[in-house]
Amino acid sequence: MNLILLGPPGAGKGTQAKILTKKYEIPQISTGDMLRLAVNEQTPMGIKAKEFMDAGALVTDEVVVGIVEERLAKTDCVNGFILDGFPRTVKQADALKHMLQSFGKSVDHVISIAVDQEELLGRISGRRTCRNCGRGFHLLFDPPRTAGKCDECGGELYQRDDDSAETMRKRLAVYEEQTAPLISYYAKESLLRTIDGIGSIENIQQSLLCAIEGSKDDHP
Ligand code: AMP
Repeated sequence: MNLILLGPPGAGKGTQAKILTKKYEIPQISTGDMLRLAVNEQTPMGIKAKEFMDAGALVTDEVVVGIVEERLAKTDCVNGFILDGFPRTVKQADALKHMLQSFGKSVDHVISIAVDQEELLGRISGRRTCRNCGRGFHLLFDPPRTAGKCDECGGELYQRDDDSAETMRKRLAVYEEQTAPLISYYAKESLLRTIDGIGSIENIQQSLLCAIEGSKDDHP
């Protein structure tokens, strides 16, 4: 199954993708995680990308399309993948279509996770990430057992530079301007379903599964 999770920053794409990877045994491909890794490793691409990321802007389409193309060619994607945070522009969506065509594949489902801006700003301020393994926490909704430490590996928890209130506002504006047009892009291709992204992680997962498996209980 080739799945795209669409939604603004903080909608829960990463959290939901992690659960789906276990159920369907297909990898989560998060361009944000791949870019953060490149930033941490201070690769030439990472050093360039950091400027855009810290400003809440998008990294150039060429760079992101390049890393996704390389990733999708790996053997663990043979039975499918979950794209989280890609595509984010119409150009990226067109590039994805062509690259999948060249692999003899196509997108099966696009699920948009809808969450309003006020809720997103509240969520993001409590978000924390493990410096070591990348596991995400939320101070209110999913707190670590020991303050400041990762439950999985004991690593230090930190707040992403781009999760500050000011950068978050910029990221939401960028989402509205550059990424939200993908909702109608994929609706035109009859691939889109929208789910309500407010509720418990379990309830949202249930809505996602209904959307993927075409249940009539979901809002189309
Ligand atoms: P995320 O973790 O998905 O919220 O991404 C964090 C940041 O990485 C974004 O604000 C962008 O600067 C960059 N980024 C991630 N995915 C993309 C993408 N598909 N296109 C451009 N920039 C991206």
